[in-house]
Amino acid sequence: MKLYDSLQRELRDFHPRDPARVAVYGCGPTVYDYAHIGNFRTFIVYDLLHRHLKRRGHEVAFVVNFTDVDDKTIDGAAEAGLSLHEHTAPYVEAFLNDAETLGVAPFSAHPRATAFVPEMVAFIERLVANGHAYVAPEGSVYYSVPSFADYGRLAGPRAAGVESRSRIDAKDSGKRDPRDFALWKAARPADRRVGAVWDSPWGEGRPGWHLECSVMGTALLGDTIDVHLGGEDLLFPHHENEIAQSEGATGRPFVRFWLHVKHLKVEDRKMSKSLGNFHTVRELLDEGREPAAVRWVLLSAHYRNELNFTLSGLDEAAAAVQRLLDFRRRVADLPAAGPGLGLAVRARERLADFGRAMDEDLNTPKAVAALWNLVRETNTALDRAPGEASSTDRESVLEALAEIDQVLGVLELASASREVGHDAEERIRRMVEDRNRARAARDFATADRLRDELAAAGVRLDDTPTGTRWSRVRAP
Ligand code: AMP
Ligand code: ZN
Repeated sequence: MKLYDSLQRELRDFHPRDPARVAVYGCGPTVYDYAHIGNFRTFIVYDLLHRHLKRRGHEVAFVVNFTDVDDKTIDGAAEAGLSLHEHTAPYVEAFLNDAETLGVAPFSAHPRATAFVPEMVAFIERLVANGHAYVAPEGSVYYSVPSFADYGRLAGPRAAGVESRSRIDAKDSGKRDPRDFALWKAARPADRRVGAVWDSPWGEGRPGWHLECSVMGTALLGDTIDVHLGGEDLLFPHHENEIAQSEGATGRPFVRFWLHVKHLKVEDRKMSKSLGNFHTVRELLDEGREPAAVRWVLLSAHYRNELNFTLSGLDEAAAAVQRLLDFRRRVADLPAAGPGLGLAVRARERLADFGRAMDEDLNTPKAVAALWNLVRETNTALDRAPGEASSTDRESVLEALAEIDQVLGVLELASASREVGHDAEERIRRMVEDRNRARAARDFATADRLRDELAAAGVRLDDTPTGTRWSRVRAP
């Protein structure tokens, strides 16, 4: 498997450091609001990596944190007149629900920053002791950027550019260098009002955002992490600072592969509340959109390429998901008593294509193309000689489909969200069989009644030489 590492800026072979366990960390949501579909583009990429590694036989320790203390969560709590915890808890819950709704498989751990404050304090003490950090007069602790020779390796020129911008606010904060950043922030009255203060050797305060990820990552996964992910906006300064802190404290390489997901655009624009293109998962569902279609859109582009979310794209995605469900049903319903069409070899080849595409830095467009090839080739063979399909043909196509969906997770989601639809489907299947039996017994009155009932339920029947095919002409 190859992954593109944003630090070395190259596609490289990926092998976990410990073959028995791949250690992965993804920056998680800041829980001051509902996550939007842009966030979920990133989280679905996490999920695809997670599922693909598991399908490849790896044990994966995949940590996705909750940023439940930072400026935004504190301001949000103050505005709502709640404590920090009261304000963030519902958004933690909402995130987990939305992730499940979109078929994101459970990650190994979801640490909350506020549960790791003692570890954060100990981490800062190490950095102060070894000269990478210093205590400012007002009780904040800063990371000393000049103390870390490698600073800027990830972001390159962008890291140098920040100097002039931050010169202004450096004046009154007690920083020795304008690039220095806070590891510990001395408590302000606003922090105290919402209960965002903890004890430390430097007085009451709270951890800095960058530090939170360094500490949760190394505490749960060890000093060196195989893969660290985040949206592209986090590359600088967040991830640059994570490297400086972690390597400053441990003296070991922090991350082997850095993956950054390109930001989602919506209707060709940057997402923003004022543009009204700021969709949350729950809003889309309230508008009658299907989770499987949302997931399909979000995984359809390669994670380093542009993806533009549009409502018409969502309609197309819903149609694509329907085609896949119809295809699976067509195959599942095959009588499969024939001599065989040789579909097993094809199915295995397409499954291998799929896996190879995912091995190429999670190339989902190519992986999805392999899936459509499977659909097209199978359909072509079945159109020509449906009666010749054998049970091996049927089972191997269904298995390939199921394996592909272990990673894409779209069919399982569509089936689950159509649980009701599934029951209805069973009922339709039984009615079609009853009708066939009635016809065979020349009981045309019953056969016609069943056909009318099915038509009323939006189901059209096609009697073909090889049996009756049914399709939905409209929603039940
Ligand atoms: P936040 O809740 O702002 O901390 O963001 C959570 C994750 O979503 C981070 O990895 C961000 O980089 C990512 N993210 C934020 N906005 C977008 C977007 N428009 N498209 C893709 N990922 C995003
Ligand atoms: Zn982070």
